[in-house]
Amino acid sequence: SKRNANEPEYMQAVHEVAETIIPFIEENEKYQNKMLLERMVEPERVIMFRVSWLDDEGNIQINRGFRIQMNSAIGPYKGGLRFHPSVNLSILKFLAFEQVYKNSLTTLPMGGGKGGSDFDPKGKSDNEVMRFCQSFMTELSKHIGANTDVPAGDIGVGAREIGFMFGQYKRLQNEFTGILTGKGLSYGGSLIRPEATGYGNVYFAQSMLKTKGDTFEGKTVVVSGSGNVAQYASEKVTQLGGKVVTLSDSSGYIYDEEGIDEKKLAFVMELKNERRGRIKEYLDQYPNAKYFEGKTPWDVKCDVALPCATQNELLEEDAKTLVENGCICVGEGANMPCTPEAVEVFQKAKILFSPGKASNAGGVATSGLEMSQNSMRYNWTSEEVDEKLFGIMHDIHEACVKYGTDENGYIDYVKGANIAGFVKVADAMLAQGAV
Ligand code: NDP
Repeated sequence: SKRNANEPEYMQAVHEVAETIIPFIEENEKYQNKMLLERMVEPERVIMFRVSWLDDEGNIQINRGFRIQMNSAIGPYKGGLRFHPSVNLSILKFLAFEQVYKNSLTTLPMGGGKGGSDFDPKGKSDNEVMRFCQSFMTELSKHIGANTDVPAGDIGVGAREIGFMFGQYKRLQNEFTGILTGKGLSYGGSLIRPEATGYGNVYFAQSMLKTKGDTFEGKTVVVSGSGNVAQYASEKVTQLGGKVVTLSDSSGYIYDEEGIDEKKLAFVMELKNERRGRIKEYLDQYPNAKYFEGKTPWDVKCDVALPCATQNELLEEDAKTLVENGCICVGEGANMPCTPEAVEVFQKAKILFSPGKASNAGGVATSGLEMSQNSMRYNWTSEEVDEKLFGIMHDIHEACVKYGTDENGYIDYVKGANIAGFVKVADAMLAQGAV
């Protein structure tokens, strides 16, 4: 741990996994004395590079680019690219580490990686974003490939950025191949990929509720974020008869007591995806809603909470408030949105809680399906992809139940996901020797 002492998010993610994996290794002789965890915490390769680009005024701007190639024991590195000013080595290593277990849980053959840049797409013109993406891909293209490393989107990287990066890769390599997922439908993308993470999170929560004989019907649901994951989680909750009452961004949250129905969500999608506006502009269209500047939505009374914005956005105090207000289920849509102290509050209260590496795995699972379709040069229908996604989320839930249920019948989804994810990667590493 000394090696990574100045990487707090990375240490946090490793600690959380180690807490459940070390006792498991101690009970299972075949995993002992092979330095498995020690090897897993050391990335196979870290690439850091300069990204210089010209802004609209003709000035040279400099950002830092990264790709963490964490673990390739079970398949090519796979994981998103994040463009956000907060991006640094610690955050990307935490995300890459989580990705290894998550990808393993999907049962598809994908190793783990993550990358991105401290570039901030906010306030940049389309042309500036394009020039940045082209410069970023000029270096990244040397390190990825359909059988080597297949990045995808994440915070700040959506359809627009993936398109620009794919175009640049193709120009450099003279090859049309599935080196990125989350592509547009006209050039190799998969149906349901935009929806997959949000839908998958709700499918997982549906499975959790089912263990209590419950459903989303009539539930009040608090969602944070208003990006890709938050939007489609909200859409699915509404389809299943629940009522979403909040959405947020890094400036604050909106509360709509009447519920953010299909029509209101279409407005949000246009606002965030096309106009790239702020969530407070929701009130311009729906003045009955309320806006809370600089706040997160966790003090709103609800049955289910779905944190879908970013890491460490739900703190211990927030968790206590949610539990006191009668919340029965928390499904992480974002990566590590709940702090370890918050998770402890949920687990002590014995409410349903799923870690992101299990409940947001639908995105990367569908990216895996996009890779398969690209290799086959064939496209499945939305119904086919959605059905496969639903099946995968169900299977991940079952894997968590298998490894996470205690003698009193309580399901510790954190433990379940960590062990189930670990076993497949560890078996592959054991078979491949000292690599
Ligand atoms: P988007 O960029 O589409 O949306 C991110 C949302 O979170 C925006 O509403 C953004 O607000 C808010 N946000 C970002 N950073 C912060 C911050 N520091 N504080 C408060 N709010 C913040 O990203 P996604 O929806 O794709 O990703 C959301 C989360 O889900 C991330 O943790 C990501 O890693 C995870 N995830 C995403 C997957 C995917 O398929 N997209 C797959 C698996 C996990 P603002 O507009 O103000 O920036």
